[in-house]
Amino acid sequence: MNTPFSIAIHGGAGTIHKHQMSNEKELAYKTALSTALNKGYEALEQGKSALDAIEIATITLEDSPLFNAGKGSVFTNKGTHEMDASIMEGESLFGGAVAGISGIRNPIHLARKVMEESEHVFLVGEGATNFAKEQGFSFESEQYFYDELRYQQWQEALKAGVVQLDHSPLKEDKFGTVGAVACDQFANVAAATSTGGMTNKKYGRVGDSPMLGAGNYANNKTCAVSCTGSGEFFIRGVVAYDVSCLIEYKGLSLAKACEEVVQKRLVNIKGDGGLIAVDPQGNVCLEFNTEGMYRGMKTSSGTEFIGIYR
Ligand code: ASP
Repeated sequence: MNTPFSIAIHGGAGTIHKHQMSNEKELAYKTALSTALNKGYEALEQGKSALDAIEIATITLEDSPLFNAGKGSVFTNKGTHEMDASIMEGESLFGGAVAGISGIRNPIHLARKVMEESEHVFLVGEGATNFAKEQGFSFESEQYFYDELRYQQWQEALKAGVVQLDHSPLKEDKFGTVGAVACDQFANVAAATSTGGMTNKKYGRVGDSPMLGAGNYANNKTCAVSCTGSGEFFIRGVVAYDVSCLIEYKGLSLAKACEEVVQKRLVNIKGDGGLIAVDPQGNVCLEFNTEGMYRGMKTSSGTEFIGIYR
């Protein structure tokens, strides 16, 4: 029996205008998105799990300097990089998350280790770092995460005394947070989200990305969701879980549930951003209320799409 499978990815949502983008830059983003999408899709095609596919796609995005996650993470107030990530599997409802970690090349891989190798769900800061060491992770120098444009962003935010969302109107031309959701050939869904958070953040600020239910969620009964946007609002809106709840309790379709949450409930509390979602039938939804969202999707029924603007 041919069961449908599909994958979707995002590289952040925000005020992304075509006129701000050179052709070269647009091509670089599209190429990076398409590489990640295809790596994840190939895994699904080979019969691998949704969990493997989203991890591969997310790692590919984390390794690109273009997105605010892994290598491309923004600077904190102290000039460091503190990353957050989470992963969740829809069959078992197992999940893993890390927040405020530094030096780890692929935070999503550490989140998966938390899920599979620890008895916990969420590890932060020093404790997460110690766990990573125990798991044999190697640590990158600050130099690995250095990016001239990110540095300039931080300097401006420092001067202005603001904590800046990567996709806020004040921002420069780099946008952030990455994520992937997939439905595999066995109708299992999974979700991953990874971010460097906000430029110039302090006090150990953590956004929605590593919070299961807020920025990331997966449940075989309903859907898998990965979010990007103004994290504080996504936390208060419990956005990813809200999409799942509308499907489970109200019987909405994936598309209707995503639309309701992103275009109504989130807008009502003044949250901006978007999300990607799949359901166990392989349906995909890419929904956002901002000018744009770096996004892509590919399904076994032959639909393929990479987009940036509305
Ligand atoms: N949601 C992320 C955060 O608040 C930021 C983003 O999606 O760009 O940390």
